[in-house]
Amino acid sequence: MSAEIIDGKKIANEIKERLKEEIDILKKKGKPPSLSAIQVGENPGSKVYVKAQRKSCESMGIEYNLHQFSENITQKELSDFIQKLNQDPRVTGIILQMPLPGHINAREMQRLIDPTKDAEGVSPTNMGMVVYGKPLLGPCTAMAIMELVKSTKIDLYGKEAVMVGHSDIVGKPTALLLLDKFVTTSVCHIATGERGSLPDYVKKAEILIVAVGKANLIKGEWIKEGAVVIDVGINRIEGKIVGDVEFDVAKERASYITPVPGGVGPVTTAMLLRNTVEAAKLQIGS
Ligand code: NAP
Repeated sequence: MSAEIIDGKKIANEIKERLKEEIDILKKKGKPPSLSAIQVGENPGSKVYVKAQRKSCESMGIEYNLHQFSENITQKELSDFIQKLNQDPRVTGIILQMPLPGHINAREMQRLIDPTKDAEGVSPTNMGMVVYGKPLLGPCTAMAIMELVKSTKIDLYGKEAVMVGHSDIVGKPTALLLLDKFVTTSVCHIATGERGSLPDYVKKAEILIVAVGKANLIKGEWIKEGAVVIDVGINRIEGKIVGDVEFDVAKERASYITPVPGGVGPVTTAMLLRNTVEAAKLQIGS
């Protein structure tokens, strides 16, 4: 069996096409979506994201403003700036680039972002809505994973899923979103790996989602025949970008699998755009 490769770029383009109409309507209603990004200090990874975000926003006619600060900014100065963006009616979406310098409490800063402007869906209010199964502006990668699973059209009810990785922005919310679809979901983390139980969990997964950041952590031979595999990991190996799953072997066992790159990444960006549009709609009550 050779898996169908899930085309993240195609799914992202379909989502973006649907958003274009909504952006036009918002512009006509006098609420053009406008995303403000805050970047503190110099981080090469974050610079790449910022560039990509600008490109995707501008290609959709969404205004993108980057506010850069030195890493010496105080927590008070940064919170004042977030409050200023919260109060500015022209700013419809806010994104706080990670990482932040050690002296700044990242969670506290995310808490300050107005939940109706929280384009990444990382504020406690939006995370909390995931628990209720009603994310308005949900965490982008978790929402993207659900879109990718949905694209396979498999019946989720009662399926066995394994989520490898329990980070606040990917693993935990994804597990909750799966639970909400009546998927029986196990969550694995570092202790599962240390105990040596990871292969046992992976082998029973009908839906496997991996978000760790370790190349080839998941051996292809562990994949259950016919499983849906969503590989979130991004790893740079000898100048090549690869995921966390041993792709070549896994694709011979899975029914559907996401490639890296070209799987989760483009859909995550589409979710950021969708949240930016949804945020503007929330602000005018439409
Ligand atoms: P993270 O915060 O570093 O979380 C990694 C998770 O993996 C942690 O829960 C960690 O557990 C767990 N883990 C580490 N080693 C393990 C092992 N041997 N066995 C099982 N679990 C293990 O990372 P993240 O933000 O969730 O991102 C994960 C990966 O996805 C990264 O490669 C990141 O670049 C990528 N990513 C991609 C996108 C995209 O759009 N394509 C978006 C977001 C993230 P402990 O916390 O217990 O150590």
